[in-house]
Parts: sequence; C-alpha cells; structure tokens
Amino acid sequence: MKHPVPDTDRVAASRAAVEARRARAELKQRVRDGELSPVTVLELSKKPDTPAATLRITDFLLLMPAIGAVKMPGILETLDISERKRLGGLGIRQRTRLEAFVRQRLGLDEATTVPPLTVLAGPTAVGKGTVAAYIREHYPEVSLSVSATTRAPRPGEIDGVHYFFVTDEEFDRMLAESEFLEWATVHNAYRYGTPRTPVLEASAQGQLVLLEIDLQGARQVSVAMPDARLVFLAPPTWDELVRRLIGRGTESAEEQERRLTTAKGELAAAEEFDETIVNDEVALAAERLVAIMRGEKPEA
Ligand code: 5GP
Repeated sequence: MKHPVPDTDRVAASRAAVEARRARAELKQRVRDGELSPVTVLELSKKPDTPAATLRITDFLLLMPAIGAVKMPGILETLDISERKRLGGLGIRQRTRLEAFVRQRLGLDEATTVPPLTVLAGPTAVGKGTVAAYIREHYPEVSLSVSATTRAPRPGEIDGVHYFFVTDEEFDRMLAESEFLEWATVHNAYRYGTPRTPVLEASAQGQLVLLEIDLQGARQVSVAMPDARLVFLAPPTWDELVRRLIGRGTESAEEQERRLTTAKGELAAAEEFDETIVNDEVALAAERLVAIMRGEKPEA
C-alpha cells in the first residue's frame, strides 16, 4: 500500500509547481518581447531544472514566428520529437535537429555581419590578458565575459570585475549545475570557466561579447556555438614569444623548456581559428579585434 503523502509535502509541491509555471510564463514573455531569442532559450535549456529546460516543445515552437497549432504536428514529425517532450529532455540528435530548424526559421544561417560572440585565445604569454584589459578600459561597448576561477586574486584584481574568485567547492557546484559554457584546468593548476547565462543574455541583447580564454576553452566554445568567432592572438615572431616566456625570469630551466614545447603546440593551433591578429602593439591589436567584432572588413 502506498503511504499517503503528507499535506505539507503536497502544499510545498503545488507551490513549487505554481512557481515553475510562473517562471516559464515569464521566460515566454521575454521571448515574445524580443528580449530573448529562441536560440538563447535552447542554450539555456541545457541546464537542468531551469524554466527553459522544463518548457514543453510545443510551447517553445509556438514562440516562433508563424508557427501555430496547424503546422505543429508536421514540424514535430519532421523533427521526430514527441509533443510531450520538454526542452531539457531532448536527445542530442533531437536537439541538433531543433537548433538547425530554429536557426533556419529565424534566418540566422544567412551570413550575419555581427557574430554573437568572439573568443580571443592564443599561446601562453602572448598578451591576451593585456589586450583584454585594454579593451575593458577603452571600448565600453564591448562586454567582457567575467570568468570564474579557483586561483586567488592578484593585487589590484577585483572580484566580479576581473574574475569571480570561487572556492573549489563552489566551482564543483557550478559544474554540477551546468553553469559553464566552457571550462578548463589551465597550466595544470587552477580551474577557469565561463558562466553561460551572462554571456548568452548579453549576446541576445545584441551586445558585442568577448571571451578571453585559453585554447582548450576556445575549442569547447567552437563546438557548443559553431557561429562564435574565434580570434587567435599571435606573437610578432617566435623569438618574441620566447623572449616573453623566458622574460618573466621566474621559472627554472626545466619549466622554461616545458613552456616552449607547449608554446610550439599552441602556435600550431592558429589554423583552427577564423582570424589571426598579431600582437605587435596592444592598442593596435585591440583596435583590430574590436573592428572584427563589429563586423568591419579588415584593411587590405
Ligand atoms: P590568469 O590566471 O593569468 O588570469 O589566466 C591564466 C589563463 O587562463 C589565461 O590563458 C586565460 O586566457 C585563461 N582563462 C581565463 N579565464 C578563462 C575561462 O573562463 N576559461 C578558460 N578555458 N580559460 C580561461
């Protein structure tokens, strides 16, 4: 015999259900108001138990222009998705088909001039951080993603501005709750990750969003968001990179050797990127990067 459910549990469960419905209604309204794109809702739905994840596929499709009850069954059949599915419960293939359908429907597959977000990566010591800092100071229209990291702040670094400095436990929690768009352990030491929601929301609002992350992270973003633009920051010459690597002067000969080997591999990654910028001068590199983000054609 089943145990009767205590009244208090029932009340709590129905309260939670009411709250979840309210959150879904708010999400739908934001899409109708044009604040959030259906593509963003799909991204957000990857995180379990969120309003986006618990949204029914039918409710989601109704948010798309010119889709109503009449077209719905045919679309669901083409996508091979049951009408009872919620976005968070889609299989990988179903999700891929749905994403392609949505993008095509919204006309996103035609060449867009302004890509949703840009990733700046490159070899160790090439000066990504300096270029990003220059952009933070001189180009307020660029929204720089603030990563979470388990390393301690350096002098002058501000929590919430340069990084969110978190404990290992907090990083684990964020991972478990799929809060990262990408993450990596850098230099075999600390973990770094890009919180998903702020990035998606800023790019959905049409802001120019920049992620300054390492190569492992750049590769993850290119898989998760194939239309992100990947920009490789290259040293003016190999000798210059060696000078910058060794120039810090704080590492042992063994460590320097290890870094040089890593740098060779990292330089070879340039061909995986959409664009390369040579970091000959910080202000110029920053200017070129912002021009790329704005969709301006590079100078001949
Ligand atoms: P630092 O500790 O010197 O600020 O950064 C060390 C490295 O971590 C840099 O190469 C930087 O690009 C990378 N990094 C910073 N934030 C992230 C992130 O969110 N994800 C990944 N994958 N790398 C990051």
